[in-house]
Amino acid sequence: MNWYKGNIHTHTTNSDGDSSPDHVASWYKNNQYDFLVLSDHNHLTILDEAENKKNKWPLLVPGEEITIREINGSPAALHINGIGIKDLIKPGSYESNIDGINDVVDKVNSQGGLASINHPNYQWWVSVDDIKYSKDAWAFEVFNGHMHSNNEGSLHSMSTEEIWDEILSSGKMIYGVASDDAHHFTQEFSSARSNPGRGWIYVKSNSLSVKEIIKSMKKGDFYSSTGVELEELEISKSNIHLKIKERLPKEKQKYTIKIIHDTGVVFFEKEGDDLDLSTKGLKKYFRVVVRSSEGTNAWIQPIFL
Ligand SMILES: [Zn+2]
Ligand SMILES: [Zn+2]
Repeated sequence: MNWYKGNIHTHTTNSDGDSSPDHVASWYKNNQYDFLVLSDHNHLTILDEAENKKNKWPLLVPGEEITIREINGSPAALHINGIGIKDLIKPGSYESNIDGINDVVDKVNSQGGLASINHPNYQWWVSVDDIKYSKDAWAFEVFNGHMHSNNEGSLHSMSTEEIWDEILSSGKMIYGVASDDAHHFTQEFSSARSNPGRGWIYVKSNSLSVKEIIKSMKKGDFYSSTGVELEELEISKSNIHLKIKERLPKEKQKYTIKIIHDTGVVFFEKEGDDLDLSTKGLKKYFRVVVRSSEGTNAWIQPIFL
């Protein structure tokens, strides 16, 4: 089994991105990504596979960011990625967020794809109840790199991690993904722009093919990252083992490892670059998050006990 790095949410000139699909795919290849989803809004961007024989692009997994255009007659900003789909899914209008999520998740699933609910806190469109009481999406974005995604929440609204724990605590499984949602590949890169290289996933897979990558993602054999990489990761219902890959000289880089369980409570916390722990005493579910002193994270997928 190998680990493959990929971004599952990005835009090109086929929707509102500033660069061609070729330019975008080349950017990810040049930055050592193994696979990429060109998830244009309501457009299935498929490139000529023969071109990729020149090793120009990462493995391209087909995908689309499907818009829920209107809720109850008003413009909405509810977006769902369909990853690994074959045919375009048209945007629709619905009575409620839950109706919209149910319909799009069904359509993605019927094509054997994976449905990810994007940027829940973008314009505060998706509530925790919308996710809790709708059909099971494969994942939601615990991190979205767009400057208006509000991952951290606000004084009055939950952060994406709080949303995640509330859903998990209700007994519903959902994975958390990190993505770029990049639109800007030209001119300056800054926090005020929607640039690539901010959030990605590492997938554990037999091989780098669309079929195997999708299969592993579906099973939860991946973790999400904004910069923390793991050298070893073995997690089961009984044990947690991980070792963080060092990036900087040790004295410059510090890591905090947290085990979170039922109701979002931190069960265990330590500083260091490895962890070996039994899951004894954990309630309902657990997930592991690693934070670096640089402010980057790794989010490991939850396990229900
Ligand atoms: Zn979006
Ligand atoms: Zn997007």
